Amino acid sequence: MSKRAYNFNAGPAALPLEVLERAQAEFVDYGGTGMSIMEMSHRGAVYEAVHNEAQERLLSLLGNPSGYKVLFIQGGASTQFAMIPMNFLGEGQVADYVMTGSWADKAIKEAKLIGNTQVVASSEASGYMSLPSLQDIQPSDNAAYLHLTSNETIEGTQFKSFPDTGSVPLIVDMSSDILSRPFDLNQFAMVYAGAQKNLGPSGVAVVIVREDLITDSPKHLPTMLRYNTYLKNNSLYNTPPSFGIYMINEVLKWIEEKGGLQGVEAMNRKKASLIYDAIDQSGGFYRGCVSPEFRSDMNITFRLGSEELEKEFVKASEQAGFVGLKGHRSVGGLRASVYNAIPYENCQALVEFMQNFQASHE
Ligand code: PMP
Repeated sequence: MSKRAYNFNAGPAALPLEVLERAQAEFVDYGGTGMSIMEMSHRGAVYEAVHNEAQERLLSLLGNPSGYKVLFIQGGASTQFAMIPMNFLGEGQVADYVMTGSWADKAIKEAKLIGNTQVVASSEASGYMSLPSLQDIQPSDNAAYLHLTSNETIEGTQFKSFPDTGSVPLIVDMSSDILSRPFDLNQFAMVYAGAQKNLGPSGVAVVIVREDLITDSPKHLPTMLRYNTYLKNNSLYNTPPSFGIYMINEVLKWIEEKGGLQGVEAMNRKKASLIYDAIDQSGGFYRGCVSPEFRSDMNITFRLGSEELEKEFVKASEQAGFVGLKGHRSVGGLRASVYNAIPYENCQALVEFMQNFQASHE
């Protein structure tokens, strides 16, 4: 087999090699049908079984909490930014948001296009390198919902626990850390994620929603922008992104094989600690961007002494076979995204590279 890159891309990101190989093995002939999964009708029994299995597997990994449904919706997490206020923000209500960085900002901007939106807590004062404390996240009296971003992919912060919003539905964008650790779905009215980091290829957003949240959406909403359309038709109102959903099902099987969410969390903790320790033990040569208690296990952001040195680091890393270590263009610096599928050995290789780079530049 050809050599795999040390892929630290932020998304689309590395998928488990075992999953890619399994998909490859059944690429041209799925289950003896003489067709690939993407060539068959989404109304047929073979595809529908995969579709339903992916939904069941996801809920099973989350402990089968009652009252929740899994929806598959196109348009990425960004379309969810709009659908949430379109469907849930009623007359005389306010949409509460927690402002934690680049992705929270995009969600807020979108909600503002739709209706009355308010930021109830923000970590702006720290340049988004920390997170608001849970006590400071209090929903408004007339809040339709409270929205937060569990993991800021660009800044590299991650909520380790979530606020209690009482009767106000808590909606969380988990695009960059879904299924990276166990969580109690019962805390949330809805969680959603673009698939292209921990779940599968891009092209589908996974929405896990408490069924009772979805009542009749406002009458003027187009069919494809109503959650009810997906709920009533098992996300098969129109042609779903069938290959992506098939891949999600395969990734979910892989997570089961790794010991479920506890298993992947243990791997993720080990990988992230390895890299953060290397940063912290570099005597200041590398500097972590985020306050330690808020550091993300998924997106590790760090800096070097100068932008010039950072450029040099990126160039040298690329020459050594590493991909995706340049920070997002909006914040600069460096970022290693270590989603579920990134092998521990790749993190070891990165740490070794960082140590060698330091030794030759001090
Ligand atoms: N939210 C977060 C936290 C993200 O990281 C991203 C994508 N990087 C998005 C939302 C947007 O996702 P999409 O590209 O699927 O619209």
